[in-house]
Amino acid sequence: MNIKTFIRSLFILRRRHRAYRGKPIMTNNSTLILAPHPDDEVFGCGGLIARLVAEGRAPYVVVMTGGGGSHRSCCDVAEKEIATARRRLTRKAMAELGLRPENIYELDYPDGDIGGEHPKQEERLRKIIDKIKPDTILVPHHGEGWPDHLAARGLGVKLAPKDAVVYEYSVWMWYYRQRSLDWASASYLRMTPQEHSQKLAAIQAYTSACAPCGKPWVGVLPKLFVKANSADVELFFRLK
Ligand SMILES: [Zn+2]
Ligand SMILES: [Zn+2]
Repeated sequence: MNIKTFIRSLFILRRRHRAYRGKPIMTNNSTLILAPHPDDEVFGCGGLIARLVAEGRAPYVVVMTGGGGSHRSCCDVAEKEIATARRRLTRKAMAELGLRPENIYELDYPDGDIGGEHPKQEERLRKIIDKIKPDTILVPHHGEGWPDHLAARGLGVKLAPKDAVVYEYSVWMWYYRQRSLDWASASYLRMTPQEHSQKLAAIQAYTSACAPCGKPWVGVLPKLFVKANSADVELFFRLK
């Protein structure tokens, strides 16, 4: 492990310990999770999905892009082929968490450009929200770094019903060093061993399936990133 990775892992541990001092996450009856790419819902909210399903309050997951850009700097596999493969993996990962396909929506925003002008996709998202009427919405954390994550967050906040509770969930937030986190609004979910093993199986579904080039369909993720997101705790920040 190099020194940079070592320091990163210390910061991750420190944040994880602080997470336990937050409040347990409270969701209501109808939860909607906005995932920029197919795998973010598992990394950020896999334990929560498993729990809500077990409690008979299965959430809805909206996957905003097909994740077709994951091999852009790798090989020439067609983006359509990647997106098709990743859809299959989403079904598999969600099955590990007990979530049925009818609770999954895929919007087909272009990978890397959720923030552009995409009226058709935005209209569809608005319709989904009108139909589900979620009372809890989960969006990516503002410290996620990636433009798609930030754009997904912006859309979720913009379209959230007035009375809905909005939480940020953490995916890349673990990996990128955060200087000022709003710990007063922190909430966590501590998984049972059963929920934890479901989450690990869902992560495995995404990270173990490979494209013809031999690299995972989801792209090569930093080991420390996967490790940070494989703990038995998930961290959320309540926005409203
Ligand atoms: Zn992502
Ligand atoms: Zn490749």
